[in-house]
Amino acid sequence: MKKILLPLILLAFSAISAQEAMLLKSSVRHTIDELRDFVAIPNDALEHADINRNITWLTKKFNERGFNTSVLPTEGESLFFAALPMEDSKPTILFYMHFDGQSVDPSKWDQPNPYQVVLKAPDGNGWKNLSFDELNEDINYDWRLFGRSTSDDKGPIVMFLNTIDLLKKENKALPYNIKVILDSEEEKSSAPLAKAVKEYKELLKADFLVINDGPVHNSGKPTVIYGCRGITTLSLTTYGPEKPQHSGHYGNYAPNPGFQLAEVLASMKDTNGKVTIEGFYNGITLDEATMAILKSVPDNETEIKNNLQIKTPEKVGSFYQEALQYPSLNIRGMGSAWIGEKARTVVPESATAEIDIRLVPESDGTRLKNLVKKHVEKQGYFVTAKIPTKEERMAHNKIMTITEGPVTNAFRTDLNNPYGKFLVETLRNTFKEEVVQIRIMGGTVPIAPFINELKIPAFIVPMVNPDNNQHSPNENLRIGQIAYGIETFYSLLSTPKL
Ligand SMILES: [Zn+2]
Repeated sequence: MKKILLPLILLAFSAISAQEAMLLKSSVRHTIDELRDFVAIPNDALEHADINRNITWLTKKFNERGFNTSVLPTEGESLFFAALPMEDSKPTILFYMHFDGQSVDPSKWDQPNPYQVVLKAPDGNGWKNLSFDELNEDINYDWRLFGRSTSDDKGPIVMFLNTIDLLKKENKALPYNIKVILDSEEEKSSAPLAKAVKEYKELLKADFLVINDGPVHNSGKPTVIYGCRGITTLSLTTYGPEKPQHSGHYGNYAPNPGFQLAEVLASMKDTNGKVTIEGFYNGITLDEATMAILKSVPDNETEIKNNLQIKTPEKVGSFYQEALQYPSLNIRGMGSAWIGEKARTVVPESATAEIDIRLVPESDGTRLKNLVKKHVEKQGYFVTAKIPTKEERMAHNKIMTITEGPVTNAFRTDLNNPYGKFLVETLRNTFKEEVVQIRIMGGTVPIAPFINELKIPAFIVPMVNPDNNQHSPNENLRIGQIAYGIETFYSLLSTPKL
């Protein structure tokens, strides 16, 4: 087991009394037991029966806490919805989490069954197994629970349930109406969600959306994320002779598709990595206040470069967070003829580059794809969406087939949104720490269309450790993050927004 331990700051207990700390610990203990129980139900969304068993578990657990629940049919697996009785005078928070998980390959895990949670303590560079009885003595916040979906994303669901218990125990008045939507196909791209939100619009109506998924910032500090980039793809193919030809007979004679493709690709970016296609970065402005927030993110760029083993980053932005504010143009793969031991002395018949474009709200995916196509045409290419016919080959010197993938839009909530300010302030007061504010994450979450359809301010408030092996073997949840999650939910649900 070669896991690097990140020095996570112990967040919990930072601002609470000894008595509260005791209560929190017993709540953490109960969360661990309940999470073991929940993880034991396999949750691969390819198994319909398993998803239903998860829904049965959720129905029981939410009903026990006084929620009204419903199972919402969709074109795919059903969604799970829960709400506490509503009062018109209160604003409504909608929480989004998901209970499905990535598939598992037990042979790759350091435990027999990824659905049977194992308790482990850090031990040198690895981990040693512990008995759950050890938790009766004391709960060490650096210990971890290993199992599928402990972090992604069953952990936060169980933290939420136990926070409701704690709020009741403390007789806390809730200044909000609370709704919860739990996705069953997040790891399969949440395909039915965007359509379902149209159908269940009334039910999902809320003042703002809080998404509890993914890890906190690498620094381990409390984190609020305002958006994430979207994505679209293109496939570009150039052509040489109709079949691969002997490079001795036809080298210097048959045009080479590899060189053609390389020339076109090279024309799209300068040596600093900036896209030179006209209009690619149009509409993006970063004012001073925005730049200040971007700069306040405690990224360790020396460490990032060290991890990636790169000397100098591209210069689309002057630092990491700034770079993410722009769309990217990425060659995600290339191919032509054969390489390595299979390399042959041929003039290849074609060369292909697979492109992905990460999108920001200012950059419409269809517009950027059209800019790329226009750019290719300007280089003298005949552009077609199909494999060229003989007639086309004979009529044009330069031919490129361009096919397009679908567009998943970005989402981004304004940094000045009052609900965002409320979230940041509440976390700051709870943990007595500066909150990391991420204006936009580089990656794409499949629920972006859902968020854009709801048309309400949305924020990702992550709860789990960054080194949780999400989607991989040995997924785990640091127990300290359970305390962090409960404190976060507790403060959000008991602090009125001014
Ligand atoms: Zn997730």
